[in-house]
Amino acid sequence: MQILKTVRELRARAEKARRSGEIVGLVPTMGFFHDGHLSLMQRARAECGLVVVSLFVNPTQFGPGEDLAAYPRDFERDCTLAAAEGVDVMFAPETAELYADNHATFVKVERLTANLCGASRPGHFRGVATVVAKLLNVCSPHRAYFGLKDYQQVRVIETMIRDLDFDVRLVRCPIVREPDGLAMSSRNSYLSPEERRAATILRRSLVAAAQRIEQGERDGDVVGRQLRDAIEAEPLARVDYAEVVDADSLAPLGRIDRTALLAVAVHIGRARLIDNLVVEIG
Ligand code: AMP
Repeated sequence: MQILKTVRELRARAEKARRSGEIVGLVPTMGFFHDGHLSLMQRARAECGLVVVSLFVNPTQFGPGEDLAAYPRDFERDCTLAAAEGVDVMFAPETAELYADNHATFVKVERLTANLCGASRPGHFRGVATVVAKLLNVCSPHRAYFGLKDYQQVRVIETMIRDLDFDVRLVRCPIVREPDGLAMSSRNSYLSPEERRAATILRRSLVAAAQRIEQGERDGDVVGRQLRDAIEAEPLARVDYAEVVDADSLAPLGRIDRTALLAVAVHIGRARLIDNLVVEIG
């Protein structure tokens, strides 16, 4: 596996692959890999000739007071894991390589970012969209792989790709979970053993709310309240949001008459965890 640090090197490597007819796949990450990340790499490996993983803890998507400095990092381990998945290129730039001191250009995707994590983390998706736009421009992949754990991020990037005419296909990848249902996340490493047990409330409350819909409940506010109450029954959990939204527009769904997204963000200890569940209406 090649480790590249500069935009110039990655551009040259990806262009060479494209010219020789290879499909180029990009997996953007912030590192500290778990099986969720590895599942994206496996999918890319199965579908592409050149697999590029980017590892960059992007400062512009963290707000003041968030965990940028504390974000878990283990570059050596990440390289070992990525190499074992057959990744061809690890792109790991320094911050100054992607952001000049006088960096002035940002991508803002409107509407989709108005609620959920967009509301609790102002500026977050502006940072995400900007860094992904940059990575797509540098790497020019045919395919880019994103996990549905970050469902709103998927919708934001899909919309950016469409609106700005990026020539890339976003591949949605399913959420990888621990055996007890907790969605894998680099931030799970913040949890004490007791908090780790409490964190199963996210998945359990989502499944219970989905069952309520499957049993015929169609009032989005009722289901949303049930979701929130179920999480708040766990003393270590503090709800950031618990919502029922349209799975495409992410607008609140008062009446559940089309595909719904149940989405939650919950503080447990010093971790802020997110999870979601898509419920199809038959
Ligand atoms: P991150 O390093 O947290 O920015 O995540 C990099 C990519 O991995 C994103 O597309 C995430 O959605 C995806 N990802 C993170 N956790 C999971 C998971 N548990 N299952 C599937 N994909 C995930």
